[in-house]
Parts: sequence; structure tokens; C-alpha cells
Amino acid sequence: MIVVMEPSATKDQIEAIIRRVQEAGLSAHVSEGVTRTVIGIVGDSHTKELLRQSLEASPGVEKVVPILQPFKLVSREFRSEKTVVQVGNVRFGTDQIVVIAGPCAVESREQVLATAKAVKASGASMLRGGAFKPRTSPYSFQGLEEEGLKYLAEAREMTGLPVVTEAMDARQLELVIQYADMIQIGARNMQNYTLLRDAGRSRHPILLKRGPGATIQELLLAAEYILSEGNYQVVLCERGIRGFDNYTRYTLDLSAVPVLQQLSHLPVIVDPSQGTGRWKLVGPMSRAAVAAGADGLIIEVHPEPDRALSDGPQQLTFENFDRLMREIRLVAEAIGRYV
Ligand code: PEP
Ligand code: MN
Repeated sequence: MIVVMEPSATKDQIEAIIRRVQEAGLSAHVSEGVTRTVIGIVGDSHTKELLRQSLEASPGVEKVVPILQPFKLVSREFRSEKTVVQVGNVRFGTDQIVVIAGPCAVESREQVLATAKAVKASGASMLRGGAFKPRTSPYSFQGLEEEGLKYLAEAREMTGLPVVTEAMDARQLELVIQYADMIQIGARNMQNYTLLRDAGRSRHPILLKRGPGATIQELLLAAEYILSEGNYQVVLCERGIRGFDNYTRYTLDLSAVPVLQQLSHLPVIVDPSQGTGRWKLVGPMSRAAVAAGADGLIIEVHPEPDRALSDGPQQLTFENFDRLMREIRLVAEAIGRYV
């Protein structure tokens, strides 16, 4: 349930409510809106109904409303305004469409520095690149690990672009946090609940990708794990779900963008590279994602896609990425946003 405070509620009244909630063995999450404060109450307790009645009668409280959705803190009911997620100087969830670009995997210092320079010149706001790669086969290239993280950090120093990279378990998370500005929890780990909790206990911004077999509700409940630990800096990412057609690698569910935005206050971005698996489809689906209202894109770019150690068929050359940026600027402008 959520407690909606009166616009005139005092700090003391708000603190009194939080104390009452904690005494009842539940946790209180405060959202300060423009006009009023809302307190989300989560947890399980048989005294919840008694607590509800007593809160409703407390000074400064306007009303107490149940949240009917299974996800609470990520819901629009808890927070009606869009959340802005800040990563360095980059802000997700504003009128700007944040473009994250870079190679699927960090393969060498030269490769990542050259790509960072090129994507920055074309107007990208952030750099991506995997140092730990979740590969389908254990015999495929698994990433440069810490060496790759160092190259990413160097690329950030050189270009000023904040870096997002994946951590697949708690041990990697500790290491990745030392180098990256944002942590990617990949599609395969969307329901790794211990990793989600650890990510929630960190205060690093998180990029949470939808699992290929996950429903929208499951994605939102995965995000709820992170928020329930106190980390509200979460960006959601649609990256394609398992369909029956194998012309594309996955089926990019663009309807998830407006659905997620209706249900949740968290920013939503789209990954047309994993989503289609084919570089020729990345441009059209990027334009469509922007038109559908996505708050950003994450796109794979490689100096020589035909020589890439992972995901070669879906990576853009520098030239194709530059063209894509010019195209999406036009679409963004048409809907009153900018890149
Ligand atoms: C990636 O971004 O390279 C990646 C492996 O993403 P996903 O987890 O969406 O497959
Ligand atoms: Mn990839």
C-alpha cells in the first residue's frame, strides 16, 4: 500500500509514519514528488490491515491506497512522475534519447579506444562493451575480464563517455563497480535474484535487460528486487524475446516500451542489436523504438564487424552508426525529443 501525505504534511509527520511502518515490521520507501510525499509500504505482515487503519487516522495523511499490482516500488501508483536515472553527466528519463554504443565485447585496447572515439564523434552519450560475456557455448570467447574493464575505463578518460558493462555474478559485480559507471544485468541473469539483491544494495545505476522468455510483469518484479533494497537508479531494457521465427535472432517487442512506461516510472531503452541479430535491421528498429517513445538505445558498433569475436552479424560499422544517428535525430525531433 502507499500512504499519500497531504501537501502541507511536515517532516515530523512523515517521519512518524515511517517509524510506525518500521515498528510493524514492514519497510517504508519515500518518494518525494513535486507537490506531495508518498510513502510506499512493502513487506508481509498479518497486522497490515490494522496498520492501514491507524495510518489513515494519522496527522498529515491524506489517504492510504492499496497497490493492486504485484510490483510496488517500480509502479506508477507509487511514483507518478518519471524517474530520472543519472549516470555521470548522462540522464535517462528526460526529453533526451540516450544512445549507448560500443562493441559487443571488449576485444583489445585499440578496438575499444577507436570505437569510443568514433561513437562519440557521431553523438553517442555512453559507451558499452562486455568484459565478461555470457556466451551460449563455453568454448566461445568469454571476454577479457579485468583487462577489458581497464580498457573501458581508459576509453572513458579519453572521451568522457560514461561506461556500462555487464556483471554476471556477485564476485564480478564487486570488480565491475570499481571501473564502470553503470552495471548491466544481462537477459540471462534477469531472474538471478541474489545478483539483483546485491545490485540493489550497491548504489550504482543498473541497466536491467528483459530475459528472452520473461513477461513484462516478471521484468518489473526483477526490477522490484533492486528497488526494494534501496537502489532506485534502474533503467529497463527491451532486447527481444523468444519467438517462433528464426529470420531474426529474437522478436523485438516494441510494444513493451509503452506498456512498461504506463506501468512503471523507470526509464525504458531498447537494444535493437541483440533484438534482431542482423545489422541491417538495427537502423529500422532504432527508428521505430524512438518513435515508440523509448528513452534510449543501446547499439553494438565494431571497427570491423566481420572480424568480431562475438555478435559480428549484428554490429554496425562506424559509418553505419553515424548514418543511424542522423536518422534517429530526425525521428526524435518529430516527436519533440532530441538525441
Ligand atoms: C549484450 O549486450 O552483448 C548481451 C549479451 O545482451 P543480452 O543480455 O541482452 O543478451
Ligand atoms: Mn552482444
